[in-house]
Amino acid sequence: MDGFLRQTAHTLLQRGGDLKAVRIILPNRRAGLFFKKYMGQLAEGPVWMPAIATIEDLFYEMARKRPADNLRLVYEMYQVFSALSEVKEEFDRFYFWGEMILKDFSDLDQFLVNPEKLFTNLKEQKILDSDWSFLSREQIALIKAFWASFEERDRYYQERFLQFWDLLFPLYQGFNARLKSGGLSYGGAIYREVAEGLQGMDMPATHHIFVGFNAFTRTEEKLIRYFIEHQGAEIFWDIDRYYINDPAQEAGLFFREYLKDPVFGPTFPGEIPAQIERRKARIQTYTVPLKINQANLVAGLLEQSLGELEDLEETVVILPEEQLLFPILNLLPDKVRQVNVTMGYPVRQTPVYTFLEAVLELQRYTKIENEEVVFYHKPVKELLHTVFLRENNPDFSTEILEELRRTNTIYLPASKLAAGGKLFALVFQKLLSSNLIEVILDLIRLLAEGLQEHSMEQTYLMQCYKQMNRLKDIFDQDIKEAVSVEFFIRIFRQVFAEIKLPFQGEPLEGLQIMGVLESRNLDFKRVIVCQMNEGSFPPSNSMNSMIPFNLRRAFRMPVQEQNDAIYAYTFYRLLHRAEEVHLIYATAGANGQVAEKSRYIHQLQIEMANEQISRRDKVVHVPVDLTPAKAISIEKNVAILDFLSRYTDKRDPEQPAMSFSPSAINMWLDCRLKFYLTYIAGLETPEKVEEEVDPAIFGNLVHLSLENLYGNYLRSKKSNRVESGDLERLRDLIFPAVEKAIRSQYFLETDEEVNLGGQLLIARDVLQKYLIGVLEKDAAKVPFEIISLEADRKYRAQLPIKTADGVVNVSLGGIIDRVDRVGNAIRLVDYKSGGDRKDFKSIESLFDRQDNSRNKAAMQTFFYGLLYQANFPENKLPLLPALYNLRDIFKEDFNPYLQEGTGTKSKKQVMDYADYSERYLQELTSCLEEIFNPTQVFDQTADLKKCQYCPFSEICCR
Ligand code: SF4
Repeated sequence: MDGFLRQTAHTLLQRGGDLKAVRIILPNRRAGLFFKKYMGQLAEGPVWMPAIATIEDLFYEMARKRPADNLRLVYEMYQVFSALSEVKEEFDRFYFWGEMILKDFSDLDQFLVNPEKLFTNLKEQKILDSDWSFLSREQIALIKAFWASFEERDRYYQERFLQFWDLLFPLYQGFNARLKSGGLSYGGAIYREVAEGLQGMDMPATHHIFVGFNAFTRTEEKLIRYFIEHQGAEIFWDIDRYYINDPAQEAGLFFREYLKDPVFGPTFPGEIPAQIERRKARIQTYTVPLKINQANLVAGLLEQSLGELEDLEETVVILPEEQLLFPILNLLPDKVRQVNVTMGYPVRQTPVYTFLEAVLELQRYTKIENEEVVFYHKPVKELLHTVFLRENNPDFSTEILEELRRTNTIYLPASKLAAGGKLFALVFQKLLSSNLIEVILDLIRLLAEGLQEHSMEQTYLMQCYKQMNRLKDIFDQDIKEAVSVEFFIRIFRQVFAEIKLPFQGEPLEGLQIMGVLESRNLDFKRVIVCQMNEGSFPPSNSMNSMIPFNLRRAFRMPVQEQNDAIYAYTFYRLLHRAEEVHLIYATAGANGQVAEKSRYIHQLQIEMANEQISRRDKVVHVPVDLTPAKAISIEKNVAILDFLSRYTDKRDPEQPAMSFSPSAINMWLDCRLKFYLTYIAGLETPEKVEEEVDPAIFGNLVHLSLENLYGNYLRSKKSNRVESGDLERLRDLIFPAVEKAIRSQYFLETDEEVNLGGQLLIARDVLQKYLIGVLEKDAAKVPFEIISLEADRKYRAQLPIKTADGVVNVSLGGIIDRVDRVGNAIRLVDYKSGGDRKDFKSIESLFDRQDNSRNKAAMQTFFYGLLYQANFPENKLPLLPALYNLRDIFKEDFNPYLQEGTGTKSKKQVMDYADYSERYLQELTSCLEEIFNPTQVFDQTADLKKCQYCPFSEICCR
């Protein structure tokens, strides 16, 4: 395709002459690469390639210097600022402003502004009447307008502004003097030095051709003008009549000015090309709901229109924002085998940066306990979940995460975490200001060693390494004093905030993906532009400057208007030669706001004829999958049946014996799939380490506290009998019993101070009250005997059932919170901290999965009756299943015993498990037979309410 750069190359070759003596100056390096390629393609024999450089190169070469690193420059400025300002500012806090001031200084130098005049306090407008003859009336009016509006501001604002404004000129002077003495400089200062010293400079002997420029800074303008006047330099303009001839078109703003200029005007072609007008292909516009949907659309467009043999490098995807880069790369059709990316990608969005930030963040959550460094569990978990640590030592990461979950540990010792290997030891150590940067650099090196095969990650790491080394130089050479970790983290974030990874793909083959400004001077047959939204293309007002708008304008510094003109030109020039144009915008913006279509699309739809552009945007519907998620059902295969046999006396003796608890039976009745996932597949419920007291933790604390209270007391009394005198003594033991439970729950040492957070403090008080309530209720039953407590024993039983392999004995097991003998009855007590009911419809209802009000707690306490009777077959005493529902413990009519019958019907209290055992065993047997039935699949419950809090709801899409 005959694009601008190709045509320029063609013209130069046609002209002949000594190309060795020619130097081509282009706006950016990318254009230079393409130009070189076209020269190579078009040259018919061996020819000298002209030298190619950017305008920046030309300035730096003439000045014989290059700008210093930004971080270094901001630090130098900080030194001057600290000496001038009465306000003591820390470097990291100054950094943000420092970068902005540096940019302003660079701008004013590039635009040859007199800094003394600009930063003069013009509050007293009389000054403006003298010695300002270099300004036009219009410029003076703008300055006056600013200071007049300034007068209207409140006093506080005025004082603050003047304090700052008065500092800027001395800062500019001091900064430049300091840099000069240190042999340093910044971009704008170099440009000014060259532009102001052109008369006395040795000019390069080569013939200069400036190609594809749009908006010059004043220094560029001066230099190019000088080259044209004194050296006969040429300019090749990349332009179109469409926007130059129409004064309303912002894209032509600069060209219209240059056309009137006595030096630049004659460099324009006699007839300005009318490529946009003559173009035949239609521009298609699209609207998609979300930004991310554009990636799918781009993939679809590429799929549709790319022929197998087509030259992909004729197609460009323009991305005004970087976030779309990876989604688009991930969705590219298979036929796109080569891709060339040219754009900056923010380092902050890379996984490596996130990891390093997490390593530093960890340092904020460290403390010393028992002379050992310990880390808070949350940042530790985040790090262990990162791909870097997981892949380095997967078993160790999993093990620690598992332990964290299981033990509810809040702080982990560094030594334990460092045992994972070299990388773990580097990450999990307490960093000191003296070794901080070195450790991070070591860390990057170590990560790079492990990522040899991942070129993308290597690139990220290299960039981070480079930045960290820059930081190290600054700290070593200049800051010298030790910095706090906090300070370092802040400066780390500041420095990385603006850094972009320069993707500059080469060779120039394959599909081209690039940012907006990178597309300058390049022409493509097929153009796809994403994110054609206001705020993206054109970008929103991004002119960060300390210099007020009116003053920038008055001193001919660039303002937003110029910025807009540059973007408009970049957009329109994409249309110069394109044969197929697709413009895509999204309707939803960030935070649910409506995103606006770019003004460029509106403009084109108004300006162009129907044949040139679609009047209506093609609405791209994102298909919503309304088909319900496929039902999950697991059939019992040999392996599953074999696994189930572990619950029976037919098990392989090598395999551990297992028993069904009442919870397992309840889960089977609730949802057979959940039972499968938990008891057969062994999926763990992802539990969180809880510092706050959720209902499950509170339930644990209830059990532990009551166990401690009675267990400790009876052990010291050496008797299981509780009499009235014991209850007073037990009351005094409530507080230590609760404290011990909390220590045990949170794995705290016996003598370790318990620092209770807000919720835990409340929970402790509530627990003490509940224990008082239990003792009060127990007082009414004295004397009684405690037969067993939770920790004392696990009750077991065998139940014969019929299976396909004949009769087998199934193991049942359970822990009963408390078994006591009150009078002539044995009570099987289950402590409950929730709102469990004690009434139940019938024994059958306890196993009826269709019954929404099935009483699971009653099913469980009857199960204890079965277990107890099986363990003490000689027992003749009545067994009383009881629920100590602690929420009701203070009620006058508190009654812990189960009652048959629900609603208003008269209820019958369960006086002995034996009265119900036959029916209960029958139901339980049939339930177990269902579990062992080879044809009974593990399917999902039909009752969606049960899925509400199920940990597997994501698996089930419920
Ligand atoms: S989400 Fe529902 S269907 Fe799936 S396992 Fe849990 S309870 Fe069963």
